[in-house]
Amino acid sequence: MSMHDDVARILVSEEALRVRVAEIAAEMNAIYTDAEVPILVCILKGAFMFLADLTRQLTFRHEIDFMEISSYGHGTSSTGVVRILLDLASTIEGRNVVIVEDIVDTGHTLDYILRNFATRQPTSVRVVTLLNKPSRREVEVPLDFVGFEVPNEFVLGYGLDFAEQYRNIPYIGIAKPEIYQAIPEGD
Ligand code: 5GP
Repeated sequence: MSMHDDVARILVSEEALRVRVAEIAAEMNAIYTDAEVPILVCILKGAFMFLADLTRQLTFRHEIDFMEISSYGHGTSSTGVVRILLDLASTIEGRNVVIVEDIVDTGHTLDYILRNFATRQPTSVRVVTLLNKPSRREVEVPLDFVGFEVPNEFVLGYGLDFAEQYRNIPYIGIAKPEIYQAIPEGD
């Protein structure tokens, strides 16, 4: 059985991703200058593919760093409990920061990161997220650049996983319910 058989339907095609990532890059290219040298902080693991495509289309000088946050385990619903698994290598004090997220769902993860970063006194913080699931929001979070709004469904592919798999699917798909029904929520 192919991974693709676990996808109920394609929500965002490879071509649509390519077009939208280029548009987001153009928006960012219009805002940032070489002099600012922002640090793009890729939130692992889900945002790795988005970052890789985005960074190649940015024309201003920038640095890249990584942060890994855990909140989900193998469930499909956020508990609001967030942990730092890998912290930044860089110091962000006095720097311009761009948080690169895969998807903002309840908002708890991003809210935690924003509050955590605020204590480190960066000059500016903006957020770019490939996907936004506003119907599930529990905490208000500011989003500066958004790729696509998605419905209240569990999505995977283009970096987003289910139980650590499917990240290599090149499009955003909606998982068939039977692939996650066997696993209890919040596990
Ligand atoms: P939040 O804290 O906003 O509820 O969730 C943020 C994180 O949960 C995202 O960075 C992502 O890793 C994960 N997440 C939320 N919704 C989905 C989804 O539909 N599919 C996948 N694969 N991950 C999701």
